[in-house]
Amino acid sequence: MSHNPADRVQDLQNFGEYGGVNPSIADSSTFTYLKASTMQAVFEGEQEGCHLYSRHTNPSTNYLCEALAGMENTEAAYVTASGMGAITSCTLQICKTGDEIIASRTIYGGTYAFFKNFLPKLGIKVHFIDISKTEQIKALINQNTKMVYCETMSNPLLDIADLPSISKITKKANIKLVVDNTFTPMIFSPIELGADIVLHSLTKFINGASDAVGGVVCAEEEFITEMMDVNTGAGMLLGPVMDAIRAANILKNIKTLHIRMKQHSYNAQYISEKFEDEGIKVFYPGVKSHPHHQLMSQTYNEEFGFGGMLVLDVKTKENAYAFMEAMQNDNIGYLAVSLGFYKTLFSAPGSSTSSEIPPEEQDQMGLSEGMVRISIGLDNDIKRTFEKMKKCMKSVGII
Ligand SMILES: *Cc1c(COP(=O)(O)O)cnc(C)c1O
Repeated sequence: MSHNPADRVQDLQNFGEYGGVNPSIADSSTFTYLKASTMQAVFEGEQEGCHLYSRHTNPSTNYLCEALAGMENTEAAYVTASGMGAITSCTLQICKTGDEIIASRTIYGGTYAFFKNFLPKLGIKVHFIDISKTEQIKALINQNTKMVYCETMSNPLLDIADLPSISKITKKANIKLVVDNTFTPMIFSPIELGADIVLHSLTKFINGASDAVGGVVCAEEEFITEMMDVNTGAGMLLGPVMDAIRAANILKNIKTLHIRMKQHSYNAQYISEKFEDEGIKVFYPGVKSHPHHQLMSQTYNEEFGFGGMLVLDVKTKENAYAFMEAMQNDNIGYLAVSLGFYKTLFSAPGSSTSSEIPPEEQDQMGLSEGMVRISIGLDNDIKRTFEKMKKCMKSVGII
């Protein structure tokens, strides 16, 4: 099998009925059996390869699972109705009352809220740390610790997790390293860097069309089978299942992901370098000023670049708001949360995507009110986009 995540996705062949070049969509919630005894055997897990009911398995969701497992180089995958559906069900499969999690404090706002507000209700304790301080991980591990959780590239400061170092600790302690790779599909291969489980929100780059919500858990066959167990599986019992038609649509979009990631990265690199030259504070791991430029250079899959996300700090909230509105009026992109669209999307993380995080903690994390998080689009002429963005900054008095 190829070492390249794009090749592993491209090499899959699944034909549809009548020789269709795309697999047919299994638009059914339930499946019929010729023999009652076969149904019993499937229920009891004695016969494989048959579908029973689409909360459990469905051919269309399976094709998508196969593509995502291929991309992340895992044995199996489980697709869910949202990224949060993947994060919550995976966590609850691993942890029970009394268990502990060590999590990066710079994680997606929804994940942070789930860990901080929801898990304590179930008696699961989460320690939030600066994930770059690996000695803190070591110090916090005890016999109740079940997982370390982080994002390969964190939201919104684009910090990079040192997965090789973290995984040395988790492997030694025999606990799971769970990594959310939503910002950097194809760019990072967390399994090859020592992670045990890789999660994604498919809503972002992977689907890339801002028309669907979805998620995935990529892991060993054994873990995915556990999640789907009809008696004890968090996937099966909590029911965050993805719909077959959505799965078929997302599968088609994955086939162009490698090209899109390269273009997003090219555009983000260009904009970051140019704004740095203008004296604006830029957060982008592709520029040398980013604290993790070196680390990322050593661990990423170079051909896909440093990613499509960047942050410009324009100092005040008023500047940030005026700049975003000017960009929207000039049709540079849209003032919207989310990421990975063909069109540029921007938001102020402090008052939107990271608003679940209390102000004093935002301070500690290095979040400032003047930050504009930008998911750069697939713009054909990024030089023209930069000139337009610069004009917007001038028009609101930032430069
Ligand atoms: C959006 C996002 C999620 C949540 O995914 P949904 O599809 O919105 O449920 C999780 N992690 C990261 C990094 C995200 O950007």
